[in-house]
Amino acid sequence: MFRCRDPTELGSYMSAMKCSDCLKGDLLPVNPMDIRDEDWQCSQCQHRQSSSSVQDYIDSCEAILYDTMEHDVKKYEKMLDEFRTRLHPRHYIGKSAIAQQLEHQ
Ligand SMILES: [Zn+2]
Repeated sequence: MFRCRDPTELGSYMSAMKCSDCLKGDLLPVNPMDIRDEDWQCSQCQHRQSSSSVQDYIDSCEAILYDTMEHDVKKYEKMLDEFRTRLHPRHYIGKSAIAQQLEHQ
């Protein structure tokens, strides 16, 4: 019955970010049941970030994603590089960006 308390369960990596402090850990919600109100914490260095700043970053990623044309390859690759530095490799935004690019090749 404690399954849901593991922040990496249930595909939460799909919304995980990399820690901006140590650049090694994953930033995961302290309370995966309440990822919008609780802080997010690094799995390695205890660095914390508020859920609203995480959400702001994701919103800005989505805005960049929808604003970038797939045929603008240079801009697209720059965007993907930027995502890779900040988002977990399994993050849904990086994945949808790659899927979008593949569709238009
Ligand atoms: Zn960290």
